[in-house]
Amino acid sequence: MEVINDNSCGWIKDLSPRNNVKKLESDLDCEWLIVGAGFTGLSAARKLGQLYPNVKIILVDAQLAGEGASSRNSGYLVDTTLNDGFTSNKELNNYKKKADIYKLGIEAVKRFIKEYQVDCDWNECGKYFASSKVEDKKILENFSSTLSKLGYEHNLLSNKGLKERLGTNFYNIALHTKGGILLHPGKLVRAMIDTLPENVNLYENSSLLDWEKKNDVVICKFKNGSIKAKKSIFATNGFLKSLGIKSNYNFPITLTASMTRPLTDEEFISIGEPKEWGVLPIRPMGATIRMTKDRRILIRNTAEVHNPYKMSKSELKKRSLKQKIGIKKRFPELSEDIIQSSWSGIVSRTRNSSQIFEKIDENIFVAGCYNGSGIGVGSLFGEQIAIKASNENSNEIETIEARKKPTWLPPDPILSLGVRARLIYERLRAKSEI
Ligand SMILES: Cc1cc2nc3c(=O)[nH]c(=O)nc-3n(C[C@H](O)[C@H](O)[C@H](O)COP(=O)(O)OP(=O)(O)OC[C@H]3O[C@@H](n4cnc5c(N)ncnc54)[C@H](O)[C@@H]3O)c2cc1C
Repeated sequence: MEVINDNSCGWIKDLSPRNNVKKLESDLDCEWLIVGAGFTGLSAARKLGQLYPNVKIILVDAQLAGEGASSRNSGYLVDTTLNDGFTSNKELNNYKKKADIYKLGIEAVKRFIKEYQVDCDWNECGKYFASSKVEDKKILENFSSTLSKLGYEHNLLSNKGLKERLGTNFYNIALHTKGGILLHPGKLVRAMIDTLPENVNLYENSSLLDWEKKNDVVICKFKNGSIKAKKSIFATNGFLKSLGIKSNYNFPITLTASMTRPLTDEEFISIGEPKEWGVLPIRPMGATIRMTKDRRILIRNTAEVHNPYKMSKSELKKRSLKQKIGIKKRFPELSEDIIQSSWSGIVSRTRNSSQIFEKIDENIFVAGCYNGSGIGVGSLFGEQIAIKASNENSNEIETIEARKKPTWLPPDPILSLGVRARLIYERLRAKSEI
């Protein structure tokens, strides 16, 4: 199956079109092959290019590099997460392991930005976990106690303070963590493409259709050619399962998001001229919503089991309508027709929200499944899987490998039915927050 994506992501539209796109149209051999050019694959390619400057490395993607989930996300470089099951005191040790990985992810992105002088609208303004439901305070107090024990700077806020900071009366309680960063994901991933080492050969719009291992070589088949590689890294995230990789440990989820045009001066004044901010929901299926540096409002309030290869225009429109309602609920003073772009993207989940980082066969490696933390963790895992695949070790690999491993999932249709049922339940619980 070929990945067919909509051309309507607001972040991608901000970028200038690329003119150096090569398609795979012959049979090639290489030392290293990386499949998937998002944060993970691009970081792996950069690291391998640095480690082996004289070796042929191929990086291949089914669509334009970086234009999968890596450009289509909400742009939160997260320091902490709330909705991943590790918030009780009993789980403190596991939460710490997870947060240690986020910290390394932030450092990996920071290093890249500093080294290549990248402008990606980086803003160390922190992030909010917020709810309109006062009864969610208990969850925040519990979370606050976890963060205090681990030394994460944060504070609790109520409606008045939130109205001033966010420009909406909608939220009644929130917890602000200081370490979260907001950025423009499209600009960040574009910089990773533009700075690929010279010995990395990038092929785009070239979908891997099938692969096998024969005599210690991985043979990959594409529509118009093939690649034989001595060593390979799979970085296709939401498409790992469809390539038969770790099939019983991950599954794709489709998210949709919308972004408004920049608010006019008048509109901006009407909501109190807030500084850039980002809110994550307290209830898992609630909306992620942020005010960008250039006064656009981004909202993501759907997550579902859907065909990961394509979302039709009419289906996207239905979801965009939900996002219009989500914005209206929070900003009733703004006009109805301010959404400028809507798009879908695929993330990968595991049962226990842990990530995949491993050798799956001799000379075959895989990294992925970060749910909503792939900007930092994907960048980190890409670099580190390249190091692991080179038979080297690092402190980062030790931290990554100390985490809980992903747990087994039942096969379809039991899996899809179970996930759908869970999503319906969470959607009902978060009804007011969508
Ligand atoms: C709407 C939305 C909001 C999100 N918000 C956030 C957020 O705020 N913060 C955060 O950290 N994360 C967020 N995420 C998740 C984040 O985007 C991902 O975790 C991250 O992009 C993963 O990077 P990756 O490189 O592993 O995978 P991807 O970016 O998915 O890249 C995988 C690549 O593999 C390619 N591919 C797939 N199949 C094939 C094939 N057969 N042949 C060749 N290539 C193939 C795809 O085309 C794609 O480019 C969000 C995601 C979405 C969709």
